[in-house]
Amino acid sequence: MSIEAGVLYIVATPIGNLGDLSPRAVETLHQVDRIAAEDTRHSAGLLRHFSIDTPLVALHEHNEREKSAVLLQRLSKGESIALISDAGTPLISDPGYVLVRDAQEADIRVVPIPGPSALIAALSASGLPTDRFCFEGFLPAKSGNRRKQLESLCDEPRTLVFYESPHRIVESLVAMVSVFGSGREAVLARELTKTFETIRHATLGELAQWVVDDANQQKGEFVVLLRGTPAVAEEEDREGQRIAELLAEELPLKQAAALAARISGGRKNALYQHLLQKKQP
Ligand code: SAM
Repeated sequence: MSIEAGVLYIVATPIGNLGDLSPRAVETLHQVDRIAAEDTRHSAGLLRHFSIDTPLVALHEHNEREKSAVLLQRLSKGESIALISDAGTPLISDPGYVLVRDAQEADIRVVPIPGPSALIAALSASGLPTDRFCFEGFLPAKSGNRRKQLESLCDEPRTLVFYESPHRIVESLVAMVSVFGSGREAVLARELTKTFETIRHATLGELAQWVVDDANQQKGEFVVLLRGTPAVAEEEDREGQRIAELLAEELPLKQAAALAARISGGRKNALYQHLLQKKQP
């Protein structure tokens, strides 16, 4: 592979497991004139591991505007530059948007070197629908804004994907339970590709309780995924729900859902989720 002059390469790096850096990424990082990194000290470790000694320059959220202008000048003079972030794909909840947008406007070629991203890794192993999804990144830090943001997603039918840090995982899960209800199907993907990788599929209430009860589950990096709100029930679904609700007065929820599905032709899981949501306070 040969690097082209005056091209900006957007290079994905591992989210934990160094084996995930692609050969093409290694070659690009070796060959470019300069690497713009979110945290040069952090990235120096990765580059050392691959014996890459390309000069590094910092590009982070606090200097992105001025550093982008300098990098664009270098690109227009024919330098090749790679952008990396601390982990995963640059620009995905990471700096780089200003640089890429300005490069596009200046007719500088932008070439992605794809690779890991926590969002896609989590989604691919979540067992939730992946045909359509909605990436929400980090929720606002302030509780009022966070709640408002979550409420705006109440009717979202696509799978929801959030990033979360160890400092706020408990608060965020608790807020999600209070907005979406404890019965919502959810997945917590923690420390992906690392030693303590954990992917847990449960109801939102169960997940929140599990994390609250076990301090070990509050450590590391997280992706939280929620099944979207079921589309407005069609006539036959409503009939299934009516039957399931009646049966649930006499039977355990799972049994009621299974029986209602057989009677109405509806989906057992959807009816079970419906009963769980009905049951919550
Ligand atoms: N650009 C990165 C990407 O493509 O995934 C995301 C950067 S963002 C600043 C960092 C967040 O990504 C973490 O707080 C966490 O939510 C998620 N994340 C990164 N690495 C992860 C991992 N190994 N396991 C789970 N989540 C991770």
